[in-house]
Amino acid sequence: MATDGYRQLLEASIRHLEALRSEDVRFIAADPSLLSALAEKPAPARVARPVTVPPSAASPSLPTAPAATRPTPAAIAEAAAPGHPPFPDLSSAPATTDAKRVGLDALRARALACVQCPNLVSNRKHVVVGVGNVDAPILFVGEAPGADEDRIGEPFVGNAGELLTKIILAMGLSRDRVYIANVLKCRPDTPGQAYGNRKPTAPEMAACVPFLYEQIQWIRPRAIVALGGTAIEGLLGRTGLYISRMRGKWVDFQGIPVMPTFHPSYLLRPENAAEKRRVWEDMLAVMERVGLPISEKQRGYFQKPG
Ligand code: URA
Repeated sequence: MATDGYRQLLEASIRHLEALRSEDVRFIAADPSLLSALAEKPAPARVARPVTVPPSAASPSLPTAPAATRPTPAAIAEAAAPGHPPFPDLSSAPATTDAKRVGLDALRARALACVQCPNLVSNRKHVVVGVGNVDAPILFVGEAPGADEDRIGEPFVGNAGELLTKIILAMGLSRDRVYIANVLKCRPDTPGQAYGNRKPTAPEMAACVPFLYEQIQWIRPRAIVALGGTAIEGLLGRTGLYISRMRGKWVDFQGIPVMPTFHPSYLLRPENAAEKRRVWEDMLAVMERVGLPISEKQRGYFQKPG
């Protein structure tokens, strides 16, 4: 993976242009500011920062770092599952809005053409790449599209998505002010089942997560919200993490704070309705972290009447 934003931009642009050429597109409109950004001297590349997971969140059988020490990159490589792709290098300056759009469009073209998981390719209706604002302060990451998302081509549009949308609105935001994506871009197939979902496998997540890493590289959100245990495992390339232990505690991912919280579909089960306040407290922490205003009314949402 390229470690420098300038090279990434060039490579993404080349891939995007190649995809257009393969569709017989011969001419494109080019923004002059984008062309001058491409002509700028690249910034020197820097070394990637490691990811930090609170030791208490991992299963007892996994090696964990002492709480006070920052893990070295070697320790991280040990902690990620074997074969997990490298974490993105986020040390260079974020791209301009125009360059982000070009880069994310190119990524979308590659994801739509991806045939790495034959079982998913033969069952999918849409590749569900992601939706939202390229300059979003917050990136919400789910696990994989379900049946509704596969049919429509957009993440979180089913029942769980409706609840996520309500949470985003309660934060004073909207779906087009944040970015929403999944670890897996194709719906996990369910052979022999007429309906239902299944958890993505570790190899499927390892194959697909580079798309998410590249989305993070382009968007550079100020915070990431990982929705559920599978999302945090896929993002960090780990197994055996417990969302019940991790939720509400910040995790560092290459310098970006990540808030793990419960998946909205978990909250939809009547027996878990009381967990809404916990998720809301996680969202208040995210709002504080990215500098969003919080009203007294917002602070009180989902509190039991005293
Ligand atoms: N659940 C997810 O994790 N992602 C979606 O897009 C929809 C449901």
